[in-house]
Amino acid sequence: MKPVCDRCEGKTAYYREYSGESLCGKCFSKSLREKVAKTISKYSMLKYGDKVAVAVSGGKDSLSLLHMLVPICKKHGTNICAITIDEGIDGYREESLEIVKNFVAQMNVEHRVLSYKELYGMSLEESLELRKERNMSSCSICGTFRRRAIDVVAERVQANVIATAHNLDDALQTFLINILAGDADRIGWTYPESVAYANNLRKIKPLTEIYEHEIAFYALINEIPFQSEECPHMNEGIRTQIREFLNKLEGEHVGIKYNAYNTVVKIAKRIKETSSREHNKCVLCGRDSTNNICSVCSMMIALKQ
Ligand code: SF4
Ligand code: ZN
Repeated sequence: MKPVCDRCEGKTAYYREYSGESLCGKCFSKSLREKVAKTISKYSMLKYGDKVAVAVSGGKDSLSLLHMLVPICKKHGTNICAITIDEGIDGYREESLEIVKNFVAQMNVEHRVLSYKELYGMSLEESLELRKERNMSSCSICGTFRRRAIDVVAERVQANVIATAHNLDDALQTFLINILAGDADRIGWTYPESVAYANNLRKIKPLTEIYEHEIAFYALINEIPFQSEECPHMNEGIRTQIREFLNKLEGEHVGIKYNAYNTVVKIAKRIKETSSREHNKCVLCGRDSTNNICSVCSMMIALKQ
């Protein structure tokens, strides 16, 4: 690491190991914002006249995403707002909701919250009391509920694009989880180019080419207040183990996650092009579904029977 920034000769604050760059805080932030703008353009994530709803949880990734997207959207005349899902996780969500409310007010964007309780009649904790099958993990229930809740609240604010803060590490972890679960079709979903689905909504992941630890550093140097406490259900699935495994590999072989990510994108593209998922309507709720009954309705049936 050099003591001065490679780009402006300011004081180095960050050493980017995989590229050998020494960067000051300002140039580091600029490099991340440029990378996000490039990703958006490479995968045609935003189009003229879009309204983007940024899914903001209160963690470092989603708040940093909002922080980066607001100026990009303003520059291109794109409408932007923030949406938050309140799962109803005692002692965890209250703090993050407070952080999000203050931050969106500071960023001057519209904000809407939707809770599982309002949408499904039960909080996540209440749904966990109802589950009979122990193989139904907290995160599988929560993930199914969250995807639908995000769609619903995005429709309520009349957004046609949902931006989520999934980063490069998330993409790699999801890829490995799908491999271990034997779900090849889902690998196609990792491909960053968005496809319109229910009610013409598109999902975009502008941080997908950025390492998680660089987003954490971005949040830190830009003084973005975020919730550091993790969800109490976080370690129930295998994601944490995979995350630790990948981080250990990266520590010993710098750049390996980036190489792996590029391979994942190529595989995901092939699978996406060849998979023929049917698009039906759920017979119970009328929403888009690959099966007769959508995953949310199936989950509700399993919980209530
Ligand atoms: Fe939901 Fe699992 Fe995330 Fe907790 S860690 S918020 S239970 S998906
Ligand atoms: Zn349904």
